[in-house]
Amino acid sequence: MNESDSGVELQAHVVIVGAGPAGLAAAQVASAAGLDVLMLDAAPQAGGQVWRARQGVAAEPVARALARLANARLLAGTRVATALPDRTLLIDGPAGARRVRWNKLVLATGARERLLPFPGWTLPGVFGAGGLQALVKGGWPIARRSVLVAGSGPLLLAAAATLRREGADVVGLAEEAGPAALARFARSLAAHPRQALQAWRLGAALLGVPAIVGWRVIAAEGDGRVERVVLQGEGGRTRTIACDALAAGWGLLPQTELAQSLGCAIAQRFGAPAIVVDGAQRTSVDGVYAIGECTGVAGAAAAHWQGELAGHAIAGAVDARVHLPKRSARRLTREHAFAAAVARAFPMPSDWAERLRDDTLVCRCEDVPWSALRGQPDLRAAKLATRCGMGHCQGRLCHDTLATLMHWPRLPVRAPLAPAPLATLLAIPEHPSDEELPT
Ligand SMILES: Cc1cc2nc3c(=O)[nH]c(=O)nc-3n(C[C@H](O)[C@H](O)[C@H](O)COP(=O)(O)OP(=O)(O)OC[C@H]3O[C@@H](n4cnc5c(N)ncnc54)[C@H](O)[C@@H]3O)c2cc1C
Repeated sequence: MNESDSGVELQAHVVIVGAGPAGLAAAQVASAAGLDVLMLDAAPQAGGQVWRARQGVAAEPVARALARLANARLLAGTRVATALPDRTLLIDGPAGARRVRWNKLVLATGARERLLPFPGWTLPGVFGAGGLQALVKGGWPIARRSVLVAGSGPLLLAAAATLRREGADVVGLAEEAGPAALARFARSLAAHPRQALQAWRLGAALLGVPAIVGWRVIAAEGDGRVERVVLQGEGGRTRTIACDALAAGWGLLPQTELAQSLGCAIAQRFGAPAIVVDGAQRTSVDGVYAIGECTGVAGAAAAHWQGELAGHAIAGAVDARVHLPKRSARRLTREHAFAAAVARAFPMPSDWAERLRDDTLVCRCEDVPWSALRGQPDLRAAKLATRCGMGHCQGRLCHDTLATLMHWPRLPVRAPLAPAPLATLLAIPEHPSDEELPT
C-alpha cells in the first residue's frame, strides 16, 4: 500500500480497534509473528475497562502486555469516527482527523454498561455502576460517601468492591435476581473454579455490606440530588434506603456500532446483540475479525483467548505453519459456558415498562419522557417525532431501552459513531446505511 495514495495517512497490515484484554492479546500474537500492527483506542491509555489506569498509573497486566509488543504502534486517545470504503477507517485523535488503511481489521471495541431509566434516574448522584467505578479509579473522591449499589449482574460486585476499597460506605448491594436464581447460579460456579474464586474474593471484600437479594430499584428521590432510593421486593413490598449516591446497572451491552458500519452480521448472544464470529474470530466481512466483549459479554479471560485466536488466524494467513491454538479454543469454550450461565441468572428485567411513569425521562440527552414515546410505532418514528436519541450519546442508552422494551427493530448506525469535531465530520463522505439489528 502506498501511504500517499488517495489521502491515506496511516497504514498497517493489522489494525486493531480497542486496546483492552482482547486487543492486547491479538496485538501480541500478530506482532510476535512479525506483522506490522497498529492499535487504536479512544481512551487515553491502553487497558480497556477492566485494566483501566488508576489515577493515571497503568494496571500491571497492561504494562506487561505493552512491554511484550514487538512490531506494534499504539495510538491512544484516538477514536474511530467511521469506516470508509477501500479498507479505510477515519480516525479522530490528538493529530486531528486522519485515514488509516488496513489489510486485516480486528474489532476489539468491548462493551458498555446497560443503565435503564426509572423515576429519579436523572438526579445528580445517580450513576451507572461501571461509570462510577471508572470515575473513582480516575481519582474522583468517594471516601465517606454512602453509596447504594443496585441492579443486576456480577459487575455490581466488582463495582461495589472498588468503591469500598476507595473509602465509600457501601450501604447495600441490591440484586434483582431472586434467591432461587442466585442459588442456581452459585451451583453453576462449581464447574468454574476461577470464577468461583473471583466471586469468593469479591464476597470477602464486601463482608459486612448488606446483600439485598430479590429487590429492584423503582425510584431515586431527593431534593435536587439523590437522598434515598426506593426498592421493591416480593409481593410489591417496598423499602427505602438513604444514601448520597446510587450506582446502578443491569449488565453490559456489546459495542457493535463500528461492526455495523462495516456491514458485519449481528445476532443475539448472551442476552444482547453482538458481532457474529466463527471459530477463528472472523466476522461475516472479508478481512474483518472481532474479539472480546463486542462479540458477546463473557469477561476478560474470554476476551484474551479470543485475541489469541484472532492473532493466530491472521498470522496463519501469511504463514501456513501457524495454526489456531487448541488450548485457547478449549478455554474459550469454558468461558462461554460461564457467560451463558450469567446471562440466564441475570436477564434483562422483563417488566421494565411498569417502572416508568409518564414523566420519567427515557432520553435524558433530549429530555423526552415516556409519555411521548410509548404510543410511537417504532424507533424511527419515535426519533423523528421527539428527537429521542439525537443528543450527545446518540441513542446508546435510550434506543437500547426502547428496542428492548417495545420489541422495536434497532436503527442503522450513522457516521460519526461518536460526537466528533467539524473537521472530522467534513472528512466523512455520504455513507451507505447498515442493516437493521435484531431486537
Ligand atoms: C464500565 C465497565 C466496567 C467494568 N468493570 C469490570 C471490573 O471491574 N471487573 C471485571 O472483571 N470486568 C469489568 N468489566 C467487564 C470488562 O470490561 C471486560 O470483561 C473486559 O475488559 C473486556 O475486554 P475487551 O478487550 O473485550 O473490551 P474492553 O476492555 O472494554 O476494551 C475495549 C476498548 O475499545 C475501545 N474502543 C471502543 N470503541 C472504540 C472506537 N470506536 N475507537 C477507538 N477505541 C474504541 C475502548 O476505549 C476500550 O478501551 C467492565 C465493563 C464495563 C463496560
